[in-house]
Amino acid sequence: MITSSRDRERKERQDKRFINKETQTSAKYLRRIEELSGAPSGMRPFLDTLRRIYVEMKGIDIPQTEKTIGTYCVMVPQELIYAAGAVPVKLCSGNYTAFFIGDDIAPRDACPLVKAVAGFKHTGLMPVYEKCSMMIVPVTCDCKKKIAGMLGNYCDVMTMHIPTTKGDDDIDEYVSQLYDFCARLEHATGNKITYDSLAEAFHKTGRAQYELSEFIRLKKQMPYLIRGTHAMTIMNAAAYMPAEVWADALRSVNMSLSIRAMKGEKITNKKLPRILLTGSPIVYPNVKIPLLIEEMGGIVAGDETCMGERGMWDPPVITDNSFDGMIRALANRSIRPCPCPTFADNTQRIYRLKQLIKENQIQGVIYHVLRGCLVYDFEYKRIEDELGKLDVPVIRLESDYNEEDVEQLRIRIEAFIELIKLRQPPEKRSEDSREL
Ligand code: SF4
Ligand code: SF4
Repeated sequence: MITSSRDRERKERQDKRFINKETQTSAKYLRRIEELSGAPSGMRPFLDTLRRIYVEMKGIDIPQTEKTIGTYCVMVPQELIYAAGAVPVKLCSGNYTAFFIGDDIAPRDACPLVKAVAGFKHTGLMPVYEKCSMMIVPVTCDCKKKIAGMLGNYCDVMTMHIPTTKGDDDIDEYVSQLYDFCARLEHATGNKITYDSLAEAFHKTGRAQYELSEFIRLKKQMPYLIRGTHAMTIMNAAAYMPAEVWADALRSVNMSLSIRAMKGEKITNKKLPRILLTGSPIVYPNVKIPLLIEEMGGIVAGDETCMGERGMWDPPVITDNSFDGMIRALANRSIRPCPCPTFADNTQRIYRLKQLIKENQIQGVIYHVLRGCLVYDFEYKRIEDELGKLDVPVIRLESDYNEEDVEQLRIRIEAFIELIKLRQPPEKRSEDSREL
């Protein structure tokens, strides 16, 4: 509590330091993304969105009268938020400066993602957090459970229980939670969720899903069309852009990639080692791992992370046109196909990884574990065994939200890239494509 003018001055100095550090780090990572060669035209709206939120420290770009609802997991259906006339914003954080504040608040072994969330909320300085009318936190791991309690001290928070299995009873239970969520949203926004508003919301997110499926199709059809770091930047920006705005921007990128593909242009003519990045969430500005992979001569040819393509990959399938049918479609889409390791059975996750390896001609897998993220770490061994059977090399990279581990990560990534190069046949120069 601030009790005197000296306390106030000290707080002002701390806030200023926080803002300076936060904006400088975010700007630095944005610059590194921009400096990577081969960005497709049409990237600007995504980069500008990240700059707006983290460098200019503004709220998301919507009219003042529109409300935002904070979410912390891809298993929260955005459609319900749009149907209540609000805009969802994904608040899982990758911020180093907020992490240092959160490190003093959360226990030492909590993951950096929730420490950064705690740090942001504690400072009260980030508009994207402060402007939320309500936050919804799915209880998917102990860290999420405890951060929900902590956030509840600052704002209106609803927790949502994510089942650990995916049977019909689990879906029924999730459906009833979605109805509770509708009631809470109606209360927070003052708007009723109707059949028509929900159908309209499906249309909005459906456009975004369509553009994403095109984007993935283009990436698969022609290897080396785009760098993974650029693809992950596009996906990260989706957290802070209304679905229709993001869809329009992605449409421009898809058009530029189609033209590239038609002209036979690639980001490189070299056979760069093709890497699949999976594991704990990679949230801007904590993009040091994809940046290191691509700066060290590899390419992130696929990602199976929840701030990446996982979040929007599976569209809801409506088999019954009623309001309840739409809610059921959302419950099914959110839970059944999700390969997140918070579920007890990870068979689906292994299937999805194998599918991505095949479709993207992956030569090696980097398994990212945020320090303290037990759910992902637990699964590493089984995945290592399964990939061993396919003769696909895999390494586990543990990282935290700071730059102290960068050199160690660089050495391990470089060695992994060299290992893949040694396993590939001698390079033949491709005559049928032009390097950008
Ligand atoms: S890692 Fe799993 S629980 Fe965490 S946000 Fe992603 S999908 Fe949700
Ligand atoms: S799933 Fe991992 S990264 Fe996400 S909140 Fe839980 S511990 Fe943190």
